[in-house]
Amino acid sequence: MSLHLYNSLTRRLEPFEPLDASCPTMYVCGPTVYNYVHIGNARPYVVFGVLAELLRRRYGAVRYVRNITDVDDKINNAARELGVPISAITDRYAAAFRDDMAAIGAVAPDAEPTVTGHIPQIVAMIERLIASGHAYAAENHVLFSVGSFDSYGKLSRRDRDEMIAGARIDVAPYKRDPGDFVLWKPSTDDLPGWESPWGRGRPGWHIECSAMAEALLGETIDIHAGGVDLQFPHHENEIAQSECAHGGRIFARYWLHNGMLNFGGAKMSKSIGNIEKIHDLVAKHPPEALRYALLSAHYRQPLEWSEGVIEQCVRTLDRLYGTLRDLGDVPAAAAIPAAVEQALDEDLNTPQALAILNELARDARAALAAGDADPSRLAPLKSALLGAGLALGLLQQAPADWFGRGAGDGDDGRISALVEERTAAKKSRDFARADAIRDALAAEGILLEDTAAGVRWRRA
Ligand code: AMP
Ligand code: ZN
Repeated sequence: MSLHLYNSLTRRLEPFEPLDASCPTMYVCGPTVYNYVHIGNARPYVVFGVLAELLRRRYGAVRYVRNITDVDDKINNAARELGVPISAITDRYAAAFRDDMAAIGAVAPDAEPTVTGHIPQIVAMIERLIASGHAYAAENHVLFSVGSFDSYGKLSRRDRDEMIAGARIDVAPYKRDPGDFVLWKPSTDDLPGWESPWGRGRPGWHIECSAMAEALLGETIDIHAGGVDLQFPHHENEIAQSECAHGGRIFARYWLHNGMLNFGGAKMSKSIGNIEKIHDLVAKHPPEALRYALLSAHYRQPLEWSEGVIEQCVRTLDRLYGTLRDLGDVPAAAAIPAAVEQALDEDLNTPQALAILNELARDARAALAAGDADPSRLAPLKSALLGAGLALGLLQQAPADWFGRGAGDGDDGRISALVEERTAAKKSRDFARADAIRDALAAEGILLEDTAAGVRWRRA
């Protein structure tokens, strides 16, 4: 079987055929950078990063674009609260986002456009939409006229009333139709803004992606991806803008949507507040275990996040790296097994690919346990294990580095936190808890010393 992808536009599993077989194109909606991102935000970038690498292997090249949204009212609010220019917020959190993505091995895009870097293209696209009768200016705003696009709703397949309810649309006097959405809005002097034919203002959210996709990938792209929460209204509106600006030509041929990561029974989201920031998680857990967890469910399914899931992934990686360590210096280069490629061909079936990877490790352990030391038999097993890991962005460190991670700075914070917790437990006379912490640390080879300056810890 060749690569098949579930296309949300047709609601069918379809064979993937790029427009240009020498370089498929993919656009993934990027983050709004006003705070650290949470582990749910990483799901699209991890799974579609696996897809980008698969396309690169199959076609020799891929052009993967992931934007940075650096104009947004949430950014304005954060900047106002701190009394700093928006660039102080966006530079800081865009850098933090790149660090987080690198930590969990989400492949970097080939281009990372920003909204502030594409204002002329956004203005030009809005002008084309006005000229072709798909948008209108009113009271310093520009609105897209949904009634001008017959196919409006084709991605989310909602009817008009549902769409209006779902978009939580503001009723505004300058709108001809309550479903019309903003392409450009005015900025007061204290807000970031750019000169435009409609006065000083800033773009709406949806137009950004249409303009950046056009600037970097042309009028029609192969794959457009993002979380299912973006399907409506964001992606629906992107389709409307792009297809109307391009004389009706199709905007994205395959629409891919990842399911939501849930935490404590609800979608992990900043607005609910049930978030775990990657920045914090990577200080407490090996980042590769977070990546493993994100790949452990099929990308279209919901994924329940918990501490237990992370711990289980750490144990699984302990076993996998243990196998690699036991294989020792059998010389072997990574070779991706056909079965792993086939699993990924079936709409990126990463749980199946992980099952194969674990089976390979079992085979290798069985060979070692049976006393097999013949490198000609062990080498293919090691190649396949490393190759299966490579396809998923796992198992690429030296086993000694995986097992030695406790010696690094990343773990110091966790140990210090436990020491503090033990001190607090003693103060509140919870001696059982205090002793349990001391014993757990001792089991890891961490010794505690009571000094005049408080409790110190050192490695035995
Ligand atoms: P945002 O910055 O909220 O636009 O989100 C960036 C990306 O993360 C988008 O593709 C969202 O669909 C995705 N996303 C946000 N929350 C979650 C979640 N809980 N689970 C999976 N993906 C999410
Ligand atoms: Zn977008």
